[in-house]
Amino acid sequence: MKAGVIAVQGDVSEHADAIRRVADARGVDSEVVTIRESGLVGDCDVLLMPGGESTTISQLLAREGIDEEIHAHVEAGKPILATCAGLIVAARDPQDERVQSLDMLDVSVDRNAFGRQKDSFEAPLDINGLDEPFPAVFIRAPLIESVGENVDVLADWEGSPVAVRQGPVVATSFHPELTNDSRLHELALFDGQPAAADTPEASQ
Ligand code: GLN
Repeated sequence: MKAGVIAVQGDVSEHADAIRRVADARGVDSEVVTIRESGLVGDCDVLLMPGGESTTISQLLAREGIDEEIHAHVEAGKPILATCAGLIVAARDPQDERVQSLDMLDVSVDRNAFGRQKDSFEAPLDINGLDEPFPAVFIRAPLIESVGENVDVLADWEGSPVAVRQGPVVATSFHPELTNDSRLHELALFDGQPAAADTPEASQ
């Protein structure tokens, strides 16, 4: 499996570690490429769009022509996990004209809404598809104010969606890469695919 971590700005190495953990646990060979220029996304099976600063990330993606490649990845139905600033960049309506949105997730977000109340906090979160609560770390997190009808809400916090899915796009307001718990990466990047250990080839 080749995983691309969008690395124009923001937290990159933690996502790479999480991908390697998930792949190792499934017995899948993984290669992680960091993406700062065009020409690399096309070879990736899965993508990560990390937290950081959404105006900067979105402008660099557009400048480098990586934005079009991410669209092609999603149109091909390949998974992408977008976290925090990544969620803002993916959103149809980031409510800030400085964000050059990729418009691939039908949500409206208030960029720093959680941050205005509490800069950073951790909370146990019930997530659809996970048996036990997930330790969610929120850092200047965006608030999802509304979701379109094609968007599934995977988790709420205090009445607002904080994890959503639209087809191959999974996005979170929080930072799943900042704990050692890789279940959300697993859910987003491998959902519905059997673990290698379950496939007939693996038992031969
Ligand atoms: N609120 C920040 C932004 O607008 C994102 C914060 C984060 O990624 N930790 O970019």
